[in-house]
Amino acid sequence: MVHGPKRPGVPALEARGLTKHFPVHRGLRGRAVVHAAEDISLALPEATVTAVVGESGSGKSTLSRLLTRLITPTSGELLLDGEPVGTSARERRAYTSQVHLVLQDPFSSLNGVHGVRYHLERPLKLHRGARGEQLDALAKELLERVSLTPADRYLDKFPHELSGGQRQRVAIARGLAVRPRVLLADEPVSMLDVSIRLGVLNLLDELRERERLAILYVTHDIASARYLADTVVVMYAGQVVESGPAQQITDSPAHPYTRLLLSAAPDPHRSGPVVLRGRGAPPSLIDPPGGCRFHPRCPFAMPVCAEAAPPTLPAGPDQVAACWLLSPDRTAEAAEAAAVAGADGATSHPGA
Ligand code: ADP
Ligand code: MG
Repeated sequence: MVHGPKRPGVPALEARGLTKHFPVHRGLRGRAVVHAAEDISLALPEATVTAVVGESGSGKSTLSRLLTRLITPTSGELLLDGEPVGTSARERRAYTSQVHLVLQDPFSSLNGVHGVRYHLERPLKLHRGARGEQLDALAKELLERVSLTPADRYLDKFPHELSGGQRQRVAIARGLAVRPRVLLADEPVSMLDVSIRLGVLNLLDELRERERLAILYVTHDIASARYLADTVVVMYAGQVVESGPAQQITDSPAHPYTRLLLSAAPDPHRSGPVVLRGRGAPPSLIDPPGGCRFHPRCPFAMPVCAEAAPPTLPAGPDQVAACWLLSPDRTAEAAEAAAVAGADGATSHPGA
C-alpha cells in the first residue's frame, strides 16, 4: 500500500509550538502545573524516521500523545499534509486513521482474551468496510507486511502464545490496517529482549521505505536513534535542545546535554571518547530552572544561562541547538567557560 506524497515538500505531519502544561494538585500548597512540553516544533516527512531522544521524564511520551491528539495541547498547532487539523468529530476520525501510535508494552496494547485475527479484522471492518473472505485475505496480508509468515500460523494465536517481538509486530500490523501515513512508536523496543530489538527496528525501517511512512521513533537510547533515524530531535526537561541529521548529531553534538547523552551510551563507531561528566538529575517540571533548563547540570554554564532562555542557533548544516555557547556574541565568554570546565576535568569545548 504505497501512498504518494500528498504535496511534494510538505511534511506528512508537522507540529508548531506544541505546549502542554498538566495541572496538578500539591496538597496544601494548592495548584501547580507540570511544564511537560514547551514550544515544540517538528516536521515528520514521509519515508523518514525522526527520533526523539531524551531521559525519562523529558516529555517524549507527552509529545507523542499530543501528536496523536490523545491529549489536547495548552497551545500550538498540528498540520496534516500542510493543513491545520480541525476539531469536528469527522476530522478527528480521519486524523486517527492517518496517525497511529504504537506503544511500548505490546502486552497491554493487545487484549489477551482475543486472538490475532480479532485484533486485525476489527480495524479492517471498521475503517475499511472489509467483509467475509476479503477480511481473511487482508488480515494475512497485514501479517506478511510485518514478516509474521506463514501468516496462517499466527492468525489464530492468542497474545500469550506469542513472544514479545511477535506481539509488537501484531500491534504494528493492526496499526497498518487503517492505512496510516504517520506511525508514532513510543519506546517500541524498550520492553523487548535485547536479542529481538534489532528485528523490530529493522521492520520500522522497512515500513519507512516500502510504505513511505513518516515515523516518529521515541527512545531514551541515542545509539538506537543513530542506527535507525534520519533525523534526531533531542529533548531535555520538556524542550527541544538540539535537532539535525542523525549522523551529524551523534558525530558532532553541539548541545552539552546531547554530549552527556552520548557519553552515557558509548558507540563503537564513534572516534574518541566523550568525557562529559553527568552532574545532578533532570529538574522538576513544576518549577523548572529559569534561563536554560539544563544550566544547573551544565559544566559550561555562563551567567547568561541562568538568566535567559537560549535562542535556537545554527550548529551545522541543518543542525540547530538551543545553547548560549553557540551565540556569536559570546565566543570569549564560552571559551572561558570551557576552560573552567576543562580545569574541572570535564571535557573540551563543545564546539571543538
Ligand atoms: P518521558 O516519556 O520522556 O519519560 P513524559 O512525557 O511521560 O516523559 O513525562 C514528562 C513529564 O510530564 C513528567 O514530569 C511527568 O510526570 C509529567 N506528566 C505526564 N503526564 C502527566 C499527567 N497526565 N499529569 C501530570 N503530569 C504528567
Ligand atoms: Mg515515555
